Amino acid sequence: MKPKNSYDVIVIGGGPAGSSASALLSEQGHRVLLLEREKFPRYHIGESLLPFTYQPLERLGLIGRMKKSAFVKKYSVQFVSPSGRASLPFYFFNRYDRESIAQTWQVLRSEFDQMLLDNTRAKGTEVKEEITVKELLRDGERVIGVRTVSKDGETKDYHATITLDCSGKEAFSTVRNGWRVPDPYLNKIAVWTYYKGAKRDAGVDEGATTVAYVPEKGWFWYIPQHNDMISVGVVAEGKYLTRGGVKAPEEIFKREIEENLWIKEHLSHGLSTGNYYLTSEYSYHAKHCATEGLLLVGDAFAFLDPVFSSGVMLALKSGVMAADAVHQAFVTQDFSPEIFSNYAATLRQGVENMRKLVYAFYNPDFSFGRVIKKYPDAAGEITDCLSGDVNKDFSQLWKWVSEFVPLPDDLPVGQPLTHSEELAKA
Ligand SMILES: Cc1cc2nc3c(=O)[nH]c(=O)nc-3n(C[C@H](O)[C@H](O)[C@H](O)COP(=O)(O)OP(=O)(O)OC[C@H]3O[C@@H](n4cnc5c(N)ncnc54)[C@H](O)[C@@H]3O)c2cc1C
Repeated sequence: MKPKNSYDVIVIGGGPAGSSASALLSEQGHRVLLLEREKFPRYHIGESLLPFTYQPLERLGLIGRMKKSAFVKKYSVQFVSPSGRASLPFYFFNRYDRESIAQTWQVLRSEFDQMLLDNTRAKGTEVKEEITVKELLRDGERVIGVRTVSKDGETKDYHATITLDCSGKEAFSTVRNGWRVPDPYLNKIAVWTYYKGAKRDAGVDEGATTVAYVPEKGWFWYIPQHNDMISVGVVAEGKYLTRGGVKAPEEIFKREIEENLWIKEHLSHGLSTGNYYLTSEYSYHAKHCATEGLLLVGDAFAFLDPVFSSGVMLALKSGVMAADAVHQAFVTQDFSPEIFSNYAATLRQGVENMRKLVYAFYNPDFSFGRVIKKYPDAAGEITDCLSGDVNKDFSQLWKWVSEFVPLPDDLPVGQPLTHSEELAKA
């Protein structure tokens, strides 16, 4: 007999990874329980989408809703030097169809994530909010469910054939399994705020993401949203941003505005909302993507520095891939961790391609312009990577870029932890 509170799949977390994986599994007829700590709509950072969110959003049946939404349309990304000089924008429509993939959005995550959660509920997922997962339940090495606590302090156990950890940067089971591998170089902090009425470009450039350099130290994001709001933040090493003992996010932010003329000028037209946020920005990777009864999805698997806005795309993409792999496991009744090897390899390839571009970006000797001047074909390749086509073969681009700056080797992480490895460890 099945234990009480028993499901096919438990999903921890209702962000883009959890909502997308659960929606597609429910659509396939599986009994899915999604447990979310917060009450939606809830605030979340990560507002700029990439063109390659199009395919997962299409699988989820949400493109029509996105097109009708108030979210600002984004067609490009541009880079601005400390002196205020803007690069030519990387327009996605130079590479992709303008009416579909090449047009993406700047979203308010409270609204976007609510739409995704409503979507999975509508497809049959049982969603429980304000329930925090506290523990993974195990039978030997196998994960068989979760122990939760509600807002009122009530503890309850839920069981499932497989549990998907979609807990985001908290990386619930990555941390508990001792699987967290920090990225050696990408160890920044971010300070950000919102401005009303600040300057935005006209026409097709209205929704462009701007990445503005802080000399040799870091960068600003400048993201135009609807309701006349701008999301603006600075990312750099903590030691640099807190130099001279400055600790308050507002003071840090205001000092850094002076470091980039474009940001200073654009913000001078608007009013600060007065709310400032700070987070550590340490990129990390999970040593394994899965073990018996457990699969990691989205930020819970890997978190990469957000300079190229790849997080939501990778969360949605991994959510779709996880749903397909788990559905296949139910079809074949094979739940061994090995079946997630392709999932791991594809996701890691995507993360590694983005990671190479992020490493290049942080090297003071790198500039997109210099690479493109020597190799004009690199412009298209760079646009593809910036669009999120991360599973494309970029070996030619990396050859070109590594003539200018060294690129990191792929990290040997991500494959499932198999039973024989566990036995060998014991
Ligand atoms: C400063 C900054 C800027 C960023 N900018 C961008 C950007 O411009 N574009 C972009 O694409 N990405 C950006 N990102 C990354 C983006 O925020 C994430 O990649 C994305 O939200 C990952 O989605 P997810 O579903 O994996 O996790 P999340 O969106 O974090 O969702 C995880 C959910 O799990 C819930 N949860 C966690 N623990 C538990 C628990 N124990 N029990 C129950 N529920 C739990 C949380 O409440 C949350 O709702 C940025 C990140 C940072 C830090």
